[in-house]
Amino acid sequence: MAYDAIVLGAGIAGVSTAIHLRKRGLSVALVDRREPGEETSFGNAGIIQREGIHPYLFPRDLRTIIDVALKRRTDADYHITSLASVAPFLWRYFRASTEEGGRRSLAANVPIFARCLEAHEALMDEAGSSGLIAKRGWIRLFRDDGAIPEAEAQARELRDFGLDAVMPDMTELQALEPHVDVTQLAGAMHYRDPWTCSDPGALVKSYADLFKRLGGEIVQAEIFGLENGNGKWTVATDGPALSAEHVAVTLGPWSKKLLDAAGLRLPMGVKRGYHEHYGATGNAYLSRPLVDDEFGFVLAPMARGIRLTSGAEFARQEAAKTPVQLRKVLPMARDLFPLGDSVDPEPWMGARPVFPDMLPVVGRAPGMNGIWLNFGHGHHGFTLGPATGELVAQMISGETPFCDPEPYSAQRFTRLQ
Ligand SMILES: Cc1cc2nc3c(=O)[nH]c(=O)nc-3n(C[C@H](O)[C@H](O)[C@H](O)COP(=O)(O)OP(=O)(O)OC[C@H]3O[C@@H](n4cnc5c(N)ncnc54)[C@H](O)[C@@H]3O)c2cc1C
Repeated sequence: MAYDAIVLGAGIAGVSTAIHLRKRGLSVALVDRREPGEETSFGNAGIIQREGIHPYLFPRDLRTIIDVALKRRTDADYHITSLASVAPFLWRYFRASTEEGGRRSLAANVPIFARCLEAHEALMDEAGSSGLIAKRGWIRLFRDDGAIPEAEAQARELRDFGLDAVMPDMTELQALEPHVDVTQLAGAMHYRDPWTCSDPGALVKSYADLFKRLGGEIVQAEIFGLENGNGKWTVATDGPALSAEHVAVTLGPWSKKLLDAAGLRLPMGVKRGYHEHYGATGNAYLSRPLVDDEFGFVLAPMARGIRLTSGAEFARQEAAKTPVQLRKVLPMARDLFPLGDSVDPEPWMGARPVFPDMLPVVGRAPGMNGIWLNFGHGHHGFTLGPATGELVAQMISGETPFCDPEPYSAQRFTRLQ
C-alpha cells in the first residue's frame, strides 16, 4: 500500500506528527502494533510542562553519585546486571551535563516549550477532549531547606521568560491542597502555567480519532524494518508492506532498535519509570500533581485514582520489571497524602527515551533521504509531542518551521562520530 508519508509509532509524538502531515494534504498511514497511546504516552504523570525548560542533568556532585551508586536514593536507581550495556550512555550523559551543556539545552528548549500549550490546545479543541485537562499547574514540595535556593534561582529565570512560579507559604499551600500534610515540608513552589491531564492515554486516543476523522489511516502491525528502493521507503510489517517517499520514526523508546538495524546509530538511552494508582481515603482529594523534590516521586490525580509515579531507573529497556523505587516511596507518599489501597493488579512500567543532552531528535535522518525523526523527548514527551509533531511536519512539507530546528538535529551526534 502506497502513501505520501508513513508515521511509525502511535504515541503522542507519532499521532501529532500524523495529524500535522494529514492537515498538509498528504496521504498518511500511522502504524503501531497496539492501539494508539498505550505505551509511554499512556503511563506518564500527565503534566504538560510549560515551565520544563531546565534540562535534567546528570548529577555532578560526588555525594549524589555515591548515594545513587550505593542505592541509597529513591529518585534514581539501576540494575547492576544492565550496567555494561547502559554505561556508554551514562558516560555521554555525564559528559553532556556541564553547566555550559545545561545552558545550551535550556536555550534550545525555549521555543518548543513556548509552543507546547497552544500546540496541545489546537489538537484538543478539534478533538473535543479539552475536558481531560486542568489548568491549575503543579506543585514541587521541599522537605528541607537545602534545595530551595536552586529552585528559587530557576523560578527567577522562568519569570524572565514570562512564566509564573510562586512560593506559597504553608497556609497558602494548605488552602490549595487541603489534604496534604504540610507539617513535614520546608517549602513549596507552585508552577502555575502548566496544564495537567487526567488520562494521558485517552488524550492521545482522542487525537488519533481526530487523525482518522481527517482521513488518516491507522494500520495495526508490528514493524520489522526499513528498506529503500526507487526513491521510496518500504516498511516491513507483519501486515501489509507499506511504502512512501517520507517515513517518520516516532517509536519513542523503541526508535533506536529500528534505526540501529537500518545502520543509523544514535546515542539514545532510556530512563525507565513506574506508576501505580491508589484510591484516596475518606473525602481526600488532590487538585493538581505534587512532585516530591527529595524522593523523586509524583502524586498525580487521574481519572483512575491517584497515580504514584517513580523516578528514573537505568536498566536495559527489556529487562524485567523491578518496581523497587515505587515500593520505597509509597510510605513517604502516604505520609504526605492519605492514599487508600492500590487499584491496579500490578505496577505499570515504561521507558523515557533520552539523549545525553536531554533534547529530542527532530528532523532528517542523516544519510537516509526521506526518513524523518521525532523521538527522544525524555521526561517531556507528553508535553512536547504536539509541538515537535508540527515542527517535523513543517520540515517534511518544505514549510518554514516555527522555530530553528538545528538544535534538535541528529547531526549533532553523527558529525562527532
Ligand atoms: C513514569 C513517567 C512519567 C512521565 N511523566 C511525564 C509528564 O508528566 N510530562 C511529560 O511531558 N512527559 C512525561 N513522561 C515522558 C513521556 O511519557 C514520553 O516522553 C512520551 O510519552 C514519549 O512518547 P512517544 O510517542 O515518543 O513514545 P510512545 O508513547 O512510547 O509511543 C511509541 C509507540 O511505538 C510503538 N512501537 C514500538 N515498537 C514498535 C514496533 N516494532 N512495531 C509497531 N509499533 C511499535 C509502541 O507500541 C508505542 O505506541 C513520563 C514518562 C514516564 C515513564
